[in-house]
Amino acid sequence: MTSAAEDRALPAATLFSDVVGQSDAIAQLRAAARKPVHAYLLVGPPGLGQRPLARGFAAALLCPQGGCGACEVCRRAQAGIHPDVVEIERAGPFVTVDDARRVVRLAQRRPLEGHRQVIVVSDIHLARLAAPVLLKTLEEPAGQTVFVLLADAVPAEMATVASRCVRIELHPVPPGELRDWLVGTGMAPDLAAELAEAAGGSIDRARLLAEDGGFAQRRELWRSVPSRLDGTGAAAAALAAELLSSAEEALEPVRARHRNEMEGLGSEAEQRGERAVPRRKEIEDRQHREERRWRTDELRAGFAVLAAAYRDRLLSLAAPDSMPAAWSGRTEERVRELAGAIAVVERSSAELVRNPNESLLLEAMLVRLSAVTG
Ligand SMILES: [Zn+2]
Repeated sequence: MTSAAEDRALPAATLFSDVVGQSDAIAQLRAAARKPVHAYLLVGPPGLGQRPLARGFAAALLCPQGGCGACEVCRRAQAGIHPDVVEIERAGPFVTVDDARRVVRLAQRRPLEGHRQVIVVSDIHLARLAAPVLLKTLEEPAGQTVFVLLADAVPAEMATVASRCVRIELHPVPPGELRDWLVGTGMAPDLAAELAEAAGGSIDRARLLAEDGGFAQRRELWRSVPSRLDGTGAAAAALAAELLSSAEEALEPVRARHRNEMEGLGSEAEQRGERAVPRRKEIEDRQHREERRWRTDELRAGFAVLAAAYRDRLLSLAAPDSMPAAWSGRTEERVRELAGAIAVVERSSAELVRNPNESLLLEAMLVRLSAVTG
């Protein structure tokens, strides 16, 4: 016979098995599922497993056994295809007033299958204009609805919305924990350590990098940039094209995952009808955003490797034996050059987020770096 504590521990392992490194949040959600209030706010940078956390929580809220992780209700909630779990995704750059009105309408309807419904709203930090519309529903919720709001952060203008919710913090996963998890999946420790570093605390990114065989090769490509720039614009342009197409290749695991998701949705719609599954357009928009974010993350990781390559050269100046003869006597100039190169890379990295033209940004950076001898 198992104790009550062990019984409770079992479902969580299945419900949240896709989430790594968020044990505090999982413990809070498990406790919350036993006696839920009307709104929860999950706060943390993207890529920490927000979606599986929200879906696992929804499963725990809807499952007749409190989240067994095995029944049909749990399965569909976790797969994002349960009609009483509605996921609201913005279509444009912000959560709009129309999105918020839809949330309000949904919150008033009765659950389609069970005793409760869960409404998950993503990117609530981008809901400044929509917030006043949401507020009333959050303050006077219909009894059968539980809100799960997701936010990268809580800007000042969202403080009122946040104050109506139980706030649960998500934290970037420490590289050591990511490395151990990767080693646990069978990855060699050296590669796991390097990949964990490149994942920047994001389990989503670590998982996708692990699926992607080209990771080590792409790092090598970025590391080779300083020695391949020969001062000509032609070399810079060719290299920019090569780097972009390698970032494009890195997207393949994301695209494969997205294709799977759409296929799953298709077969579920065939079985249960279109009305029983989420709207395709919203999912496509979200997938599109994920792909763009992934490309930006990939380029940012590449920029970090490149900056490190220049930093290594800078450090090697401290050991003059390893310096090519041609450089002796111009150490000071060389230090200035390399420090300048690092600054150029870091500035370009910071610009990635708001610059929609990655190809132009990359080429401009490489042209500036061309002035630095490899
Ligand atoms: Zn269940």
